[in-house]
Amino acid sequence: MAILDILTAPDPVLKKKADPVEEVTDEIRTLLDDMLDTMYDAPGIGLAAPQVGVLKRVIVIDVAGDDEEPAPVKMINPEILWASDETGIYEEGCLSVPKSFSEVERPERVKVKYLDENGTAHEIDADGLLATCVQHEIDHLEGTLFIDHISRIKRSMIMRKLTKMKKAD
Ligand SMILES: [Zn+2]
Repeated sequence: MAILDILTAPDPVLKKKADPVEEVTDEIRTLLDDMLDTMYDAPGIGLAAPQVGVLKRVIVIDVAGDDEEPAPVKMINPEILWASDETGIYEEGCLSVPKSFSEVERPERVKVKYLDENGTAHEIDADGLLATCVQHEIDHLEGTLFIDHISRIKRSMIMRKLTKMKKAD
């Protein structure tokens, strides 16, 4: 088990596009496990590989509530196959945008395909918090943060705060 360092905005790595995983190797499986450890430690409900400085299309998610059994999901090369026209609004946060939250509107339901840690293909229908979280994490693989979905004014307020927090470190 390893806790990895989480990059925070405005780190340039967070704006880069991640590469597909060609082959699911032990190295990828270790990355997935370390990412889950890091996410639970933070704590958070989702983490994408670019957030720990690895530009690969790998994400982990666990949207189980505090009083529920953990339900970790590991996704390699996740891809949104379909998104509903209906949208939902959630207050989102991000481990790479510490202490900042903002309402983001996204499709309410999505169909997602991905490979698991054994290289087996899956397709799932996600709604509610899981749908939001999957879209948020896949955004990371494209170099997009949730603050890129909000108004310019709100975004610059958050970025100013983050820059101040970094300087204070
Ligand atoms: Zn995030």
